[in-house]
Amino acid sequence: MTTTTAPTEKKSSEPVLPLSSAQGIAWDLGDLYQGLADPKIEEDLAQAKQRAERFEQTYRGLLQAPEGPAPEPLQQALTELEALSEQMDKPLIFAMLMHSAQTNDPSRGALLAKTREARTAINQHLIFFDLAWVALPDAVAQPLIEHPLLARFRHYLEQKRLWKPHYLSEPEEKILEEKQVTGRAAFVRLFDETTALMTCPFEGKNGVEKLTIQQTLAKLYDPDAAVRQAASNALTASLKEQSRLLTFLFNTVILDHQVDVRLRRFANPMEPRHLANEISAATVHALMTSIEAYHGTVQRYYRMKAKLMGLPVLHDHDRYAPVFADLPRCPWDEAAALVRESYRQFSPQAGQIIDQFFERRWIDADPRPGKRGGAFSSSAVPSAHPYILMNYTDKLRDVMTLAHELGHGLHQYLSRDVGYLQCDTPLTTAETASVFGEMLTFERLLDRYPEPRIRLGLLCGKIEDSFATAFRQVVMTRFEEAAHQARQEKGELATEQLNDLWIQANLPMHGQAVTLTPNYAWWWLYVGHFIHVPFYCYAYSFGELLVLALVQKYKQEGTAFVEQYLDLLRRGGSESPPQLLRRLGVDINDPGFWKLGLRLLDDMVTQAEQLAAQI
Ligand SMILES: [Zn+2]
Repeated sequence: MTTTTAPTEKKSSEPVLPLSSAQGIAWDLGDLYQGLADPKIEEDLAQAKQRAERFEQTYRGLLQAPEGPAPEPLQQALTELEALSEQMDKPLIFAMLMHSAQTNDPSRGALLAKTREARTAINQHLIFFDLAWVALPDAVAQPLIEHPLLARFRHYLEQKRLWKPHYLSEPEEKILEEKQVTGRAAFVRLFDETTALMTCPFEGKNGVEKLTIQQTLAKLYDPDAAVRQAASNALTASLKEQSRLLTFLFNTVILDHQVDVRLRRFANPMEPRHLANEISAATVHALMTSIEAYHGTVQRYYRMKAKLMGLPVLHDHDRYAPVFADLPRCPWDEAAALVRESYRQFSPQAGQIIDQFFERRWIDADPRPGKRGGAFSSSAVPSAHPYILMNYTDKLRDVMTLAHELGHGLHQYLSRDVGYLQCDTPLTTAETASVFGEMLTFERLLDRYPEPRIRLGLLCGKIEDSFATAFRQVVMTRFEEAAHQARQEKGELATEQLNDLWIQANLPMHGQAVTLTPNYAWWWLYVGHFIHVPFYCYAYSFGELLVLALVQKYKQEGTAFVEQYLDLLRRGGSESPPQLLRRLGVDINDPGFWKLGLRLLDDMVTQAEQLAAQI
């Protein structure tokens, strides 16, 4: 998940520190291409285009025959589709990585636009395939799905057919795909570039500094209440300044989504996300209401925190303040050693894979100006390996982010063998390995710092992260639900209307324990998930609670769990989440399941209360 990051703060009384101990920790994308001018980029695009044309000539008739294809040619078709999809996507993935590392370099933006256009043109020849597959009658498709020759592609074939009621005709699909580039994708890019370049006028002791959004958000973790207040003012000021554009982008994305929902005959705006997540609406409902039933735990924690910090009122911008100002910093080399060790201790095999990320430079950790904020792990392509981007600023939180992204990396690395068409998991289980990896590292951090104050500080950090992942994401989903509904009923929404919906969505979680300031009303404006993938957020809640339950299983079962868990990661997205998790003895359709993780969180709050009473 994305987290906040900023260069080390400079205070006049202190020696000037380097920006980050991760300066110069940059990835080597050479396993994809040798730079922007690598002729192989053009070659891959040209070859993929030829292959796609040939693919269409060879297989269109085969799939459209009334009796359907025989298993052998269908297997050949899928094998070729897999290989050529990888070749078609590789230049775009490379361009996206290059662009995210330096969004203010126009030549990278140009490559991104060019490869995206080329990919879209190539894909025009492939659109028929899914449509023809889906159009086959069940009596023809079902025996193919079950055929042993097609076992490798089974889930792919099965899953596509679930979309059957929502496909349009081939010419319609082609037009929609082609218009994406100048439609949705363009708005997403405008959002990314706008928010990456926005500057917040932060009024510190040394006058007004222009900070990026990420740098400003990082100041909410400052021990000084005045700094947090100034950060809140700075972020709000810049959001207000860009609110017209950002509100328009959000309205546009919602409308685009609504048009999709209508054209594709979905019952409601969340249905396409549930289908993509391979999860039922009932499971999501059980998850969200279970979490909402534990708002009391959140409020108990915040009341304890206010007391611990001696604050009469805990404002929204105080929620992430460190309970102790003196938590140690962690330089990059130590963080790397600690995270590697935590994975190695869990499983030597996992440890070896994680080591490669450091030794072969698959991580970009240096927080450069112009670099995309937050953090992610890109699976890239199975013939290469994943790449991780983050902004390391020496905070213990950043250590957790590193562990998180490496969890994704491990998952993506292990699932390469199931092939390009099935290696990616739906969002629901995409966060499993990342949150699990965080827990492993968290426990090592606790071992490393036995002093009660630091332990309490770490525990509070972990609780706050879990709140942000489980509870806050449900709040965000409730906000999106309300915004999509209001957009449908009232037409284009004004910033103030959305501000109101945002506050309404936040009140139940915070209750009387946190005072939401007028500034906070504007803070939905920078949330990328709303723009990138509507209704993404509940998948984080799903992942967090799932992992808390898995951690308990690991503690109970020990090494027996490790092999089963790695096996789950290896399967990538080749089975649905309920199927995969059944292999670990977990039934996510049981509404009681979510309480396991919530109880663990509640226990952590109790532990923190006890530690706080001792200090
Ligand atoms: Zn993540």
